[in-house]
Amino acid sequence: MNGLPSDPFTLLAATMLVSGFASMAWLLLAGVARVAPRVSIGMALANGLLAATLVTQSLRGQAPVWLAFWGSDVLAIATLATLRAVMPALSEHPSTVDAGLAWRSALLLLLPAAAALAWLPYEGDMRWHTRIVFGSALLLTLLAAKDAWRQLRTRLTRRLAARLSAPLLVIALFLLLPLLNSLRRPTVAFDLLASSEFQIGWLWSMLALGLLINATMASLVLTRMILQIQRLTRRDPLTDVLNRRALSEAIDAEHARLQRGKPYALVMIDMDHFKQLNDSLGHAAGDAALLRAVQVLSPCVRDVDHFGRLGGEEFCVLLPLTDLAGAALVAERMRYNLEASCFEWQGKSWPLTASFGVAEALPEDVSADAVLLRADKGMYRAKAQGRNVVQEA
Ligand code: GH3
Ligand code: MG
Ligand code: MG
Repeated sequence: MNGLPSDPFTLLAATMLVSGFASMAWLLLAGVARVAPRVSIGMALANGLLAATLVTQSLRGQAPVWLAFWGSDVLAIATLATLRAVMPALSEHPSTVDAGLAWRSALLLLLPAAAALAWLPYEGDMRWHTRIVFGSALLLTLLAAKDAWRQLRTRLTRRLAARLSAPLLVIALFLLLPLLNSLRRPTVAFDLLASSEFQIGWLWSMLALGLLINATMASLVLTRMILQIQRLTRRDPLTDVLNRRALSEAIDAEHARLQRGKPYALVMIDMDHFKQLNDSLGHAAGDAALLRAVQVLSPCVRDVDHFGRLGGEEFCVLLPLTDLAGAALVAERMRYNLEASCFEWQGKSWPLTASFGVAEALPEDVSADAVLLRADKGMYRAKAQGRNVVQEA
């Protein structure tokens, strides 16, 4: 280890400093910046537990066995249990993964492990201690990785989600090595501050593990923030479909592909007699009706289509690789489903219908505005025809 610190006190101090600073940074994020507060408080705790693991380990030979051995083992598992337990709090949608289940599974691994370690004597061959500590830490990390993957998968592509959850697998690999070692040969208790090569290697591993855990969680929190900002700038706050700007961008991008022979179509949607609904039932009922309409209409389109709210009670759907006949079919399905749906407000039911205009992009359309205008004209024709119909321009 040329040039690298190989004195256990320096390494121990470095690891403690990293954990201490990381803890403070997470607390600042939680308290001052209010960024993912539950994750941040959990990570501050995890860093504290990691530091406590090392402190108790360094007391071996001076402090009683329950503290320096059993205590440090339990603290090490608790560090990963905390990491596992905070994982669901990363989600913007609490429903993606179950937070209660995460806490319970973390405790369900920690408590029996702590009990088993209390029952095993801390002398002679310690391979069972190693298996319990690293086995449960590994399981906890894998559960955390599974949660992270499941949450990222709902918002990102498979590849991006895999890349972002991969560091958790690296942490798992870190924990797998001592576990595999304990399956092959006996392990013995060690004194952390004895300056042997093994201890130095151990301390370096702990420093790397601490940095890795913090960097991984920081990148996951950052991803969450970016996704939140994206949601704020691209989604309609009431209905959560694309807002006008995001939909316009998607239509412009699709229009650029038109030159390469990729057709697209638009469906313009305007709710019928919406003022009447607002005037009779109130504005809150109007908002609820808009939500209900989106709930009915959005399942009618494919994953590749873009559903957006242009404003008020007007929506638009972009259908890539679709011609006029295909778009009319989609619009008719939407019209039918909306008419057949029921909307109730405070026990009173109200019919929801909309008028639909469809248009297909043509090679001579210089910009997407021309296509939008035709779809709009179709929609006005539908209104003129008595509403609740699909029309072309
Ligand atoms: P038409 O069948 O001709 O479309 O009749 P309409 O009453 O829907 O007429 P128009 O499209 O001109 O009016 C839209 C009304 O929708 C105006 C406003 O009261 C209501 N509205 C627009 N945005 C919102 C919204 O975000 N929430 C609620 N509750 N009402 C809205
Ligand atoms: Mg309107
Ligand atoms: Mg209307």
